[in-house]
Amino acid sequence: MVCRLCKEDKPLRESHIFPEWLYKELYDDNHRFFVLSTDVKKRRGTRPRGIYERLLCHECEQRFSKWEGYARDVFNNQPLKLIEDNRVVVFSGLQYTPFKLFQMSLIWRASITSRPEINRIDLGPHAERIRKMLFENRPGEAHEYGSILMLPALGQELMQEFLYPPERLPSKLDGHSAYRAVFGGLFWLFIVSNHSARFPHKEVFLSRDGRLPVFKVGGPAVKFMQQLASDFFAAGMLNDPV
Ligand SMILES: [Zn+2]
Repeated sequence: MVCRLCKEDKPLRESHIFPEWLYKELYDDNHRFFVLSTDVKKRRGTRPRGIYERLLCHECEQRFSKWEGYARDVFNNQPLKLIEDNRVVVFSGLQYTPFKLFQMSLIWRASITSRPEINRIDLGPHAERIRKMLFENRPGEAHEYGSILMLPALGQELMQEFLYPPERLPSKLDGHSAYRAVFGGLFWLFIVSNHSARFPHKEVFLSRDGRLPVFKVGGPAVKFMQQLASDFFAAGMLNDPV
């Protein structure tokens, strides 16, 4: 079996698609969680613990564990600094490389899985570029496959109730392809674009000096949030008994 990251023929481990702690708001008393979909045909289901698939060899799995362990520590233990007029909270003092690679690993893994619970996304040539960057431990520039994090003031309780795997936005964002997801109660926007250097607001990404803004939803973000919420309602995913 060929490892998806190093491409070597090695025994593969059962790897999680997304780290389990990103589901933490989802666990019920029986430690099951829900994966939702805006696709009406895909009903909400339960799975014992995370979604796993044989994708990576042991060595590659360890790389991911390192980045994920770091990110988990950031979310659990780093104090948030409140700046500006309550519109942005900021994590500061982050290590750029592991956190950036962690962010990139989420969208990459979503793109390589064939598990039916995860939306099919095709990153085209970007999948291979991201794979190489992950493999070579190369986080790239802030705007290269950067993600934007938002803390939904709107419907926050709702957002904390589920994980939503990355899904391509129906329309481009300032001419850039983007994917939306909900992980760990936060709304994530992944920018996957050839010309991301032209992205107008690079300060929205994790910066090399370790500053990670998390935007309280406002402005254009409200539209996405509302759209996502209404997609769920339209798909009958909410208030739906399992
Ligand atoms: Zn490998």
